[in-house]
Amino acid sequence: MEIISDIKAMQNRCLAARDSGQTISFVPTMGFLHEGHLSLLREGRKRGDLLVLSIFVNPTQFGQGEDLDLYPRDFERDEAMARECGVDLLFYPEAEAIYPPGYATYVAVEGPLTTTLEGVCRPTHFRGVTTVVTKLFTIVMPHIALFGRKDFQQLAVITRMTTDLNLPVEIVGMPIIREQDGLAMSSRNVYLSKDVRQQALVLNSTLRQAAEMAQNGESDVEKILTMAGSRLANEADLKIDYVKICNAQSLEEVDTINHESVMLLAVSVGKTRLIDNGNLIS
Ligand code: AMP
Repeated sequence: MEIISDIKAMQNRCLAARDSGQTISFVPTMGFLHEGHLSLLREGRKRGDLLVLSIFVNPTQFGQGEDLDLYPRDFERDEAMARECGVDLLFYPEAEAIYPPGYATYVAVEGPLTTTLEGVCRPTHFRGVTTVVTKLFTIVMPHIALFGRKDFQQLAVITRMTTDLNLPVEIVGMPIIREQDGLAMSSRNVYLSKDVRQQALVLNSTLRQAAEMAQNGESDVEKILTMAGSRLANEADLKIDYVKICNAQSLEEVDTINHESVMLLAVSVGKTRLIDNGNLIS
């Protein structure tokens, strides 16, 4: 596995790979890897000749007062896990190289896809995500890029951007990987105390109960949201940021459940936000 920090060196390495006919698959992450990231890497390994992982804690996607400085980091551990997964190139740039002095260019998807749900609590978040993903695509020039459905809205925004800008990359969405007890894996789970982590299980159990209601014929969104709201409100340390049922493509809220309905939840515990989602009818 090669580790490259320099942008030009990375671009040249990827250009050479493309020129020699290799298919590049790419998994962008913020590091502190877990099984969720590894599932993307394993799929990427199957689909490409050259598997590229980036680790970059992207400052522009964090708002003021969010956890940028506290975000967990462990490069040595990540490096060992990346090798284990068969990563060929690990791109590990410095923030100053990605955003040098005078940096002034941003890519933003406009409209409801970025202003609803996470966009309400984190108004500058997706602009940071789409900017860095565009830059990473320009550096790595992947044929395929893999993203987790754990960040459902992010996947929708990146898919929109890739279509709108005619980027020659296939975006692949991958299933949510969970801990044995159902908690969706996240680098941020290390922040949770034992007690709060126990309370956080309500996210998954609420999604499961909602899906059960829908599969048993409940099509009234209001009824499912009432159940969800009261379950989440039972946990003393979790503050509900949103609980919504939306169309999986447009992310617009719906009144009636159908096969395209997805439930999306976000709660905060102090500075930590936990998000989860699930289809209601599989
Ligand atoms: P992050 O390092 O949190 O920015 O995540 C990097 C990529 O891994 C994103 O595409 C995430 O959606 C994906 N990811 C994070 N957690 C999970 C999970 N539990 N299951 C599947 N994919 C995940």
